[in-house]
Formats: sequence, structure tokens, C-alpha cells
Amino acid sequence: MSRKVIITVAPTGSVTTRAETPYLPITPEEVIEETVRSYNAGASVVHLHARDPDTGQPTSSVEIFRMYLDGIRQRCPIITQITTGGGAATLGLGYDERFRPVEELRPDSASLNAGSMNFGRKLFPNPPEVMERYAKRMVELGVMPEFEIYDLSMIQNVDVWIRRPGIVPPPYQNSFVMGVLGGIPPTFKNLLALVESLPQGDTWQVIGIGRHQFTLGVAGILLGGNIRVGFEDNIYLAKGVLARSNAELVEKAVRIIRELGFEVASVEEARGILPLRPRERYPQ
Ligand code: ZN
Repeated sequence: MSRKVIITVAPTGSVTTRAETPYLPITPEEVIEETVRSYNAGASVVHLHARDPDTGQPTSSVEIFRMYLDGIRQRCPIITQITTGGGAATLGLGYDERFRPVEELRPDSASLNAGSMNFGRKLFPNPPEVMERYAKRMVELGVMPEFEIYDLSMIQNVDVWIRRPGIVPPPYQNSFVMGVLGGIPPTFKNLLALVESLPQGDTWQVIGIGRHQFTLGVAGILLGGNIRVGFEDNIYLAKGVLARSNAELVEKAVRIIRELGFEVASVEEARGILPLRPRERYPQ
């Protein structure tokens, strides 16, 4: 049986604007609709940021995230993930505020940024004590941390602050974010170095920014990883051609995965592959 590849969709993010693409989903209805379309196209995980429906600006509003999760859960079983970093660089949010939607809503997963960095010209603070605090609380809540790795050093951060002290039982789910200014340069050599630095048994995906969504994303698939697509990271279907929906990017990933001789993981299969945490109860 060929390997199942997990496709995550990140439909909106907090940086992409309507001026860049008119197809960007902003209101809760649009984000929910794009998520369902992406699920129908083959995505099994959705990575969510909240946007103010009136201004389009990023927000940490629990109520907006609640609308997303309620609407998505009514319409499809996709695995849900909430950002804990989205508002940090763009809005300068405090650590508790960044975490509040995860605390209140208990998605299946949340991002956990594995170190501080310069994100473009902005400071993106993720000091060790915050990594530890977020990780401990996610374990208590039954939320799977996804470690966002922007550079080789961040694999070491996770190892020293989280893995060795045993804060989260292994294995871990990791994302290699490649193409952010201030993070690891987006090259094949660097992807190989990241993959080889990861402990055995962990799962991982490539988050390639811009054109690297598919170049490094596909390299990641060939190296045994999974792929994230969506307007948070890339708005183009091909050079100069805007994707008209996140689902078109998912469909492209599906075509490539199948052409390479792999299969696309269903939600149920993705739940078996990812180190999702046992939960005592699901939020309603
Ligand atoms: Zn994000």
C-alpha cells in the first residue's frame, strides 16, 4: 500500500490581503465555506486564523474562532487547528491573549512556535517559558501541539525545552516553515538538513511560502513528509495565475500526490497518522 500524504489547508492567515487576491476568505461564512470546499477536495486538516469581518484585519477574537469551529464542525469532520502565533507579530498580542482561543475552544491541534525570531521586520517572541507553558496546557486540554520550526535551531529548542523534560509525550508533529524572511532560507539542502535533524518517529510537513509552497512542499512529500497549502502562505496556482479558491490549491496537491504514486490521507487516516492527544471530552 502506498503512503498516505496529509494535506493541511491554511485558508486565510493574518498577512495576506484582499488587495493581493480578491479570493481571500475573510468573514466567518467565507472561511467556513473555503474550509468545506478544501475538505471536499482532499484536505484533512485546517489551520485557522481569525479575521475581523468588517476590516479584514487579524484578531484574536474567541467569538470569531468559535463561529469558525461551530460552522466547520456542522459541515465536515476536518481536523481543526488554531494558531497561537498569528497575532503576535502583526498585532503585538500578549501571550495569554494569543492562547485564549485554544483555552476556550479546545481545537484538535494548535500551533506552537518553537522560538523567537525576526518575522520580516517584526519581532516574533516565543521564549522558552512561553513554549513550556503553552505545551503543558495543550497536553492538559488534549490539544496536539504542532511545532512550527522556522530554523534548524528551533528543533533544538523543542528538544531542550519540551522533549527532554517530558512536557509532551512523543512523537511530535512539526512544520518546517520555509521562505519567511528571518527564518531558514527555502532551499532543498536546508529542507534535507531539517528532515535529518528531526527525531525518528515524528511527523512533519512543509509550509513553503510563495512559490515554495509546491517546490519544497513536493520535495517534502518525496522525503516522507506532508504538505500544507492555502492562501496564508501562497495565493498562486501557477506563475501569475491566482488560485480562485483554497480548494484549487488542495486539488493541485492531490493531483501531484497521486502522480507521484502516493495516496491522499482521509481525515480518519490522518487521525491515525498524527500524534493527536487523547481527550476526555470534546467541546460542543
Ligand atoms: Zn498560521
